[in-house]
This record gives sequence, C-alpha cells and structure tokens, in this order.
Amino acid sequence: MNFSEFIKKYALHPHYQSPTGTGLHARSWQTEAPLRMLLNNLNAEVAENPCELIVYGGTGQAARNPEAVKEIIRQLLTLDEQHSLLIQSGKAVGVVRSHPEAPRVLIANSNLVPAWANWQHFELLKQRGLIMYGQMTAGSWIYIGTQGILQGTYETFAECGRKYFNGNTKHKLLVSGGLGGMGGAQPLAATMAGYTFLGVDVDAERIRKRLSTRYIDKLTYSYDEAKSIVLKAREDGNALSVGLVGNIGDILEKLLNDGIIPDVLTDQTSAHDPLNGYVPAGISPDEAIHLRKTDPDRYKTLSLSSMARHVKYMLEMKQRGSIVFDYGNNLREFARQGGESRAFEYDGFIPEFIRPLFCEGKGPFRWVALSGDPEDIFATDEAVVEAFPDNSHLKKWINEAQQKVTFQGLPARICWLGMGEREKAGIIFNDLVKKGKVKAPIVIGRDHLDCGSVASPNRETEAMADGSDAISDWPLLNLMANTAAGATWVSFHHGGGVGIGYSQHAGMVVVADGTDRAEQCLKRVLFNDPATGIFRHADAGYKKAIDNKAKFNL
Ligand code: NAD
Repeated sequence: MNFSEFIKKYALHPHYQSPTGTGLHARSWQTEAPLRMLLNNLNAEVAENPCELIVYGGTGQAARNPEAVKEIIRQLLTLDEQHSLLIQSGKAVGVVRSHPEAPRVLIANSNLVPAWANWQHFELLKQRGLIMYGQMTAGSWIYIGTQGILQGTYETFAECGRKYFNGNTKHKLLVSGGLGGMGGAQPLAATMAGYTFLGVDVDAERIRKRLSTRYIDKLTYSYDEAKSIVLKAREDGNALSVGLVGNIGDILEKLLNDGIIPDVLTDQTSAHDPLNGYVPAGISPDEAIHLRKTDPDRYKTLSLSSMARHVKYMLEMKQRGSIVFDYGNNLREFARQGGESRAFEYDGFIPEFIRPLFCEGKGPFRWVALSGDPEDIFATDEAVVEAFPDNSHLKKWINEAQQKVTFQGLPARICWLGMGEREKAGIIFNDLVKKGKVKAPIVIGRDHLDCGSVASPNRETEAMADGSDAISDWPLLNLMANTAAGATWVSFHHGGGVGIGYSQHAGMVVVADGTDRAEQCLKRVLFNDPATGIFRHADAGYKKAIDNKAKFNL
C-alpha cells in the first residue's frame, strides 16, 4: 500500500483508525507501533473530538493539525532502525541518526521556558500554530480510552472507602462533576467500588458517550429525577450511577439547599484550563464555544469566579460532613485565583490515597494488542493473573474488567504494577509474542501520572515530605533513564493534568515484539521506570520507599 492509499484508508481527516492484523505497513514493529497508536488515539471510538485532533483532557491533542498527522505518518512508514524521529508539539521536525536499541520517536510537547509558562503565552503561540497542548497520554500516543483511568479511579474510591468507611461503601453516595475522557471513568469506578454515584456534566453528548460504552447506567436532564433515583439507590444500598446534565456549581447549590450531603465529593471537570476547558455557571456548551472566541477575557473571568463558587460549595459540603478531595484538575488553584482564599482547605487525591503506592514504584501500567484482536488481551490477562498468583486484588480487577470494560479502539488493559512486577510482566508478554500465543506485538506504556515521572505541586508531588514539590529534575531523569534504556518512544510534556505552568512530566512506551532485542530493552526500561519513582520518594524521606530501595537493591 503506498502513502496516499494508506492515508485514504486510515487517516482521512477526521476519520482516523489504526490498522489491525499481523501485516506491517512500516519497516518494523518498532515503527508500526507508534504509527498504530497515533491513529488509535485519534479514532472516534477513543478520542473525544477527532475533528480538532483532541483526545481527552480539555484540549489535549495527539498532533498539531491534520497536515502534521500526515507528515508524521509519512515519516513513520519509512523510518529505519538507524534513525529516530523528532516530534515538537505534535509536528515532525526532523530525523536524527541513532541505533537499533534507541527510541524510534522522541517527543516534546507544550514545553515553555518557566517565566513564560502560563496559559496566556501558550494561547498566543497556539494561535500562531507554533505549539499544541499534549496533555499526558494524548500527545504521547498512549491514550487507551476511559479504561486508562478506570483502575486508578477505582483504587482511589476504594481506598477512600477503606480509610473513611471501614471498607463499607454500601449506602454511600459519591458525587462528582465532569464525565469527559477521564472523568467518564468515575461512574463505573464508583459502582465497582460499591458506591451510589451522581455525576454532573454540562454536555449531554459526553454523558451519552459513557452510556454507549456502559460506563454509566442512566442519563437525565432532570435534577428532581436524578435526586430521587440516587437517594433511593443510596437507601437501598444499590451501586448505581446517574449522569445529570447540568453545571456542577448549580447542582451543588441545589443539593445544599435540599440538605443532601454526599458522603464523598470530588470533581473532574476540565478545570485545569479556565478558557478552553471549564464551563462557567449560566452558560451552555454552545454559548461557551462562542464566548471563548468573541470575548476570551470575559470568559476567563466568569470561569474563575464560577470555580470559586464551585469550591465554596465543596468546602461547605466538607463542613457538613462530606469527605472532599481534589481529583487532579487544579480546581483549587483556579478557584483561589477566582477569589476563594480557602480553596486549599481540602487535600488532593495523591497525598490522601496514592502516595504509599508510589513508594512501591506502583502506577498505571497499561498495554495494547496491536493485532486489534480482543483475544490477545484475554491471553495477556491470563498470563498476568498466572504470574502473580498471590495478588488476589489484581485477579479480582482483571475479572471485573473483562466483564465490564468495553474496549475503545485497539483492545487494551490497565493495572497498577510496581517495581519488579512490571519487568516480569513485560518479559512474559514478549514471550507470548515470540511463541505466537498472541497474534501481533504488545505495546507497553503508562500514564504520566506515575511514581517517578511527574513534578506537579498541586497533584502528584503535592505536600512532599521534604518540600521538594516543584523540583522538576525528577521527570527529566526519568526521561533520560528510559531513553538510555531503549524505550520505543519517549516524551516530555508540560502542563498535563493541571494546566500550563503547573506540571512537567515524562512518558515512555516500549514494544514487546518477541525479539531478543526487545527483551533486553524491556528489562532495562521496566526496571528503570519504577526505580526512578522509588529513588524520588526515598530521597524525599518516605520510609516505605527507603525500605523498597533496600529490598530491590537499588
Ligand atoms: P474532558 O475535557 O474530556 O472532560 C471534561 C468534562 O467536564 C467535559 O465533559 C465538560 O463538558 C465538563 N465540564 C466542564 N465544565 C463543567 C461544569 N462547570 N459543570 C459540569 N461539567 C463541566 O477532560 P477529562 O479527560 O475528563 O479530564 C478531566 C480533568 O481531569 C482535566 O482537568 C484533566 O486534566 C484532569 N485529569 C485528571 C486525571 C486524574 O488521574 N485524576 C488524569 C488526567 C487528567
């Protein structure tokens, strides 16, 4: 198939789709893999808005513009193992000499010199076509749909249950805003963890997408209907989820007026971006699109004051008994800028629930079957459960995921694995490919929300024991360690999760293609990656990380 036939079949904007099957279009699986994963990120089943090349997380893009997608494809189709492709904010800018065990693609997205690192400057550059917002896994081509955050959300909600309700989440109501690409995992994660769930999103289409992928049970436009369903479900101890079309600030106000206090309250609206993400109170999604263009300053002012009001209600709920935590969208910071001086009076989910896992080098490890055949994922599921027979938690998760997760695009799986475990799983997957037990290679990667790859003082590195929250040497070291180890592609981004100015983070993807070369790379990358998480937390003084450093002889 020549280049134009390939584009016609797989990348005719906005209809993107990854090739499947066992035949190569690029020269090797090491370049076929990024090619398929880029197209998979943009597939309408996976991406929130392929017309704008937006994958998830507000305006998180996989490539700068349709022309840039084509050029990346052209390069990946011909790139050999002596060269590596450079991507600058979603655009191919050059090919450099390297070697067979070097990453085939080196990606840098949304990076700005610190004194210029704010949304305002970013927007000016974006308008001139010079930069794009890569979020975390959008611009690094390892987004796998809402499943990508499902297990992390489930772990968080379950841990909240253990910490505050002795593990008994029956008869507990969890309320949250935002049912987009990531936030859409909340209803399924909450019901899997035993809660009754009420989610609020201004955009009915977003809730519909969750209905079609079975992430949510019901959609309604009526506050009264939503209220009566969830109150009855809470009373009956029924783990059921409802998506209500509305503005979360308005709905919290109504709940407060009605004296309905959620047991748990959080938020995953796209608050990290006050202009192109969060929708202010009193404005419909269509009006938002218009106002963003015609009067961005007024939009931003409205957005910040709405966030202040939103957080004021969250604090009031906290005072009246709700367990309230921030879910990584920087809502507190923008509410503070909007005038709510007490915004940081509730904690983020990392110090509340996740940091102990980071001290074990644990994080959201994920993999994708390049064949496109779900049977390949089921084979890997079986292999993972067999590899860790004592991990009953993992077994339960894989079982539930098999029953409840609808694949979006290429079949994929996620589970949180730590030091030692990731390397073991990677070698097993490579063996499955080598022995033909799966039909094509397996792509292994992770979210940037991980133990050693992020500096994000309002999220992953909030309230570090030694006060080192804002030091971003760590994600750079993670990037360099994974590059030196021979990941298949690596990336360094700015602004993911919490917005421009607030984070820097690194990504890695490594492909198990069944070769001895891949085995060597997998052993190095899947050792180095969690090790940097343990180094980072041991250096900050966490005892658990110091113990793990000794345990793994790091
Ligand atoms: P998204 O852009 O796909 O979805 C955001 C949703 O919020 C949209 O559906 C939008 O309609 C809705 N929304 C915006 N303002 C609203 C309002 N006032 N009331 C009700 N609904 C509103 O984003 P996403 O991928 O779901 O990510 C959500 C947020 O979480 C982002 O800020 C993202 O950066 C952050 N994030 C969190 C994690 C995590 O692990 N917790 C990981 C990645 C990203």
